Formats: sequence, structure tokens, C-alpha cells
Amino acid sequence: MRNNSSVTNFSYQIPVQIYFGRGYFQRLAEWVRGRRVLIITSAGFVERGLVDKLNAAAIWPVAVVSDISPNPTLSQMAAIYTRLDRSQFDVILAIGGGSVMDSAKVFSVDAPHFSLISQYILGEISHLHYTTTPLICVPTTAGTSSELTPWATIWDMDLKQKFSLHLPDLWPEACIYDPELTHSLPRQLTLQTGLDALSHCLESIWNIQANPISTAFAIQGAKLILATLPDLLSDLDNQQCRDQMMLATVYAGLAFSNTQTAVAHAISYYLTAKYGVAHGIACSFSLPHIAYVAQGISEPVDAALNEIFGQNPSEKIKAFFDTIGVSHLLWTYLPQDDFPELCRSVFQNNRIKNGIVPMDTLFEVLRTAC
Ligand SMILES: [Zn+2]
Repeated sequence: MRNNSSVTNFSYQIPVQIYFGRGYFQRLAEWVRGRRVLIITSAGFVERGLVDKLNAAAIWPVAVVSDISPNPTLSQMAAIYTRLDRSQFDVILAIGGGSVMDSAKVFSVDAPHFSLISQYILGEISHLHYTTTPLICVPTTAGTSSELTPWATIWDMDLKQKFSLHLPDLWPEACIYDPELTHSLPRQLTLQTGLDALSHCLESIWNIQANPISTAFAIQGAKLILATLPDLLSDLDNQQCRDQMMLATVYAGLAFSNTQTAVAHAISYYLTAKYGVAHGIACSFSLPHIAYVAQGISEPVDAALNEIFGQNPSEKIKAFFDTIGVSHLLWTYLPQDDFPELCRSVFQNNRIKNGIVPMDTLFEVLRTAC
């Protein structure tokens, strides 16, 4: 049945202080406010002199955790969590991409034992008694928007599954966006994180939790990404494009922080866990096909997609993917004989419940697309 366009009741929340500006990394001490700092980052940043740069910005961390791997698992997080001395620090500063910020969110939860957090994540207990350590996020990529959400992604590579720690107090205290930090991002990471942000925008539109505020941010973010990403990919040193992409990820975060993701992400996790497909590609190649199936189901969704793409959103998204050289065909990422297993994993994932599209139709479109 087609939804009408009348506005239904909704709420919208974003309890995160946002600071955006070139050179803001040098001003971090203003937001740390004399508290004792634990740094969560990746090894590469430490090797490239992060601690010296922090000292130059008048920050002397009490400890630095840098062994965060991409797509962190529960066991990796447990090992780090149990060696943290929580009496040493008052605030966590996460400097890195999505995996660093997701890990920092988990570490910000102060529970008696990590096993309780783990059981909560796995759904084995329904309540978790905890407090949180304040978290300041400094994203170094433009795309995941983890700094603007109250959940963290955790992986189980044996089960080929993705889990989420979602708590009402998991919002960071502040996000510091300094586009200069993204200048050295290589092309592939720029591409993947940019597509992740585009997916976050569109996923918050074709979403049962969408509201007029989230959709307005999503439209703005998606337009900015479509207008900027191709130019940036052909000129990685373009400062204006770097600024615009970082701003687009703020819009994306403001959109999907209140809706969560949906079908494209539900499809992605198996491809990432089993075949190592980068998240930004795994969660975006299906966008034109979802746009195709989503047409005509909901008036606000149609209106939002038309505002972004004009006529025929599905074909416009395909053309965009062709421009940036990314395949939108499922068989690029999945062997055909593994299709049933992909379908099974998608139906097991919670994010599918946020979607508005009939899954049987979508699977058929994905299977036969050429
Ligand atoms: Zn994503």
C-alpha cells in the first residue's frame, strides 16, 4: 500500500557537540579541558608521529591504545578492554576511522566485566548496568559517521556475522571535524568511505524510522556526495572537495543516527565477513537496485529520491557508479553458488527490519541484474 505524505509523529535527537574547521586538530585541548586523556587510534597514526602532534597541541595522553584492527572482533576488544586501567583517564579521545571510533565507544562503557558487555552484544542478557567515560571523536576519514551514532559495530569472523552495541548513552560528547586530517587518504579509502556515506544517506530515506528531519539531512548529504566525490577522486589534493565530503558525512550522520541503516547494510555484512569486501563497497553496490524496488512504495521516499536524482533514481545511481568505476552487480562480489547463504544471512540481520522494500523482489532484481 502506498503511504500518503502527511507528517506523522516523530522525535529526533543528536546530543553531540559538533565542531568543524580546518586546523581544529591543533585546538583539541579546548575540548579536552584539562582532563586525563586515553587515546584510541590505529598503529599507522602512531608511526606517523601522532603523539608528537598531540603534544604540540598541548595534549599529553596518559596512555595510547593503537592496536585497533579494521573490523574489530569481540575477542580483540576483550583483550584491550581488560588491560585498560580506568582509574588513569577521565576522557577518551578517538582519532581514526570507523573501526577506531567503534572500538572507543565499546571501551567507553564501564561495566564490571567485559563478559557482561559481550553477553549484552550477543543478546544473551537484556540489561547492562554501566556508566560511560566521556568520548571525543576525531574522524580521519570522511564517511563512516560513527562519531554521530550511539552504536558500535563488532564482528565475529567465525560466524561471519556483525553485531552491534547500541546503548542510549553511547553518543560521543563531541566530534571534532578537521578536513585537513583527510588530505592524505588514498584513493581507495576516499572512494569507499564516500560511498559508505552515500549509503547512509539513502538508507535513512528508505527506512521505516525516517522522519522529515532525518530525510532533509539525507537529501543534503547525498546531493553533496554526488556533486563532490567524482571530482575528488580525480584530484585527491582538492581541499574544497575534502571539505565538502567531510561536511557531507556530517549530514549523513545527522540522518542515519536517528534511523539506523537498512537493507543495503544488511546485505553488506556477509560480503565483508566472508569475502573481505570493503564495507563502503559492500553496503553501496546494491543502492541502484534498492532504489528501483523502492519506487512507488512511499510518497516521501519517492519525493526524496526525486529531489536528489531527478527522474529514474536507479539509473542515475548506476551512472554514478559507472563514473567512479565501481560495479553495482552482485556477482562481482559473491560467487553465484553462495547466493542462498547470502539471503539467509540477510534475513538474520536486524537492519532488514528498517527497510521498506519487499525482499523477494529485491533478491530477484539483484540476482538478474546485468
Ligand atoms: Zn555503513
